[in-house]
Amino acid sequence: MKYFIGNWKMFGIEKSFKILKKINLHIKKDFYKKSYKVMFAVPYTLISNYSKKFKNSKILIGAQNCYFKDHFSSNTGQISAFMLKDAGCSFVIIGHSDNRAEGDNENILYEKVKNAINNNLNVIFCIGENKKQKEKKQTLKVLTNQIKRVFKKDFNEKKIIIAYEPIWSIGTGKIPKTNELSNTVKKLKKTLKINYGRKKNFKILYGGSVDGTNASKFSKLTDVDGFLIGGASKSDKKFIDIIKNYYR
Ligand code: PEP
Repeated sequence: MKYFIGNWKMFGIEKSFKILKKINLHIKKDFYKKSYKVMFAVPYTLISNYSKKFKNSKILIGAQNCYFKDHFSSNTGQISAFMLKDAGCSFVIIGHSDNRAEGDNENILYEKVKNAINNNLNVIFCIGENKKQKEKKQTLKVLTNQIKRVFKKDFNEKKIIIAYEPIWSIGTGKIPKTNELSNTVKKLKKTLKINYGRKKNFKILYGGSVDGTNASKFSKLTDVDGFLIGGASKSDKKFIDIIKNYYR
C-alpha cells in the first residue's frame, strides 16, 4: 500500500474542497487498478466541514498539528487531539519542521503523539536533517535520534507513519539522489527494527519538493511507502500528476 498525503499548510478556504473533489474522482476511476491511500491535512478551519463532505469518499481528512495538552484547557488559540477527533479527523501530522522551528521539542512531541494515539488518531511523524547535518554525513544518526527520543519501546507502530522530510528539500525544488534516498530509508528501517523489534514494520514516506515531474523517479524505490506533498497538493492537476506519473 502506498500513501499520497497532502499537506496544505496555511492554504485553503471553504470552496477549495473542489480541489479534493476532482482528486477523489480520479482516485475512484483509478482504484480498481491500483491500491493506494490519499490523505489530506487541511487547516483547522476546514476539518469539520471537509470531514463530513468526504466521509464516504476515498480521501481521509486530517490535521497539520495539535496542542501538547489534551481535552479542554485554558490555552488561547490551541486545539487538542481530542477536539480533532471530535471534528472528524482520522490523522494528524506531528513534528513538521515548520513546527519544530517554532519550538516543538522532543518532550512536546512525545506528549502530542501520546495524545493523538490515545484519541485514536493516526500520526504522520515528520523527521529530517538540515543541510549542515547532511553535509557532515549525520543524516541517519539525526533521524534515528528524532524517533528514539519520542517513541518508547512499546508504541504501536501501526498508528504511526514516518515522513522523512530533509529540511533542505522542503519547498526548495531540491530532492535527494534516488540512491541516497533509497539507502537512507533502507538503513533507517533496519535501525528501527534493531531498536524496536524485528516484528515491527515501519512505513516511511518521503517528503520534500515532490511533483509530477520527479514522481516517476521515486517509483523504483520499493522501500519508500509513499509521499508527503506540500506545494503540489494545492492543485488537483499537480497532485493527480504525481499519482499518474508514479504508476506510469
Ligand atoms: C512539506 O512541507 O511537508 C512539504 C513536503 O512541502 P513541499 O512538497 O512543498 O516541499
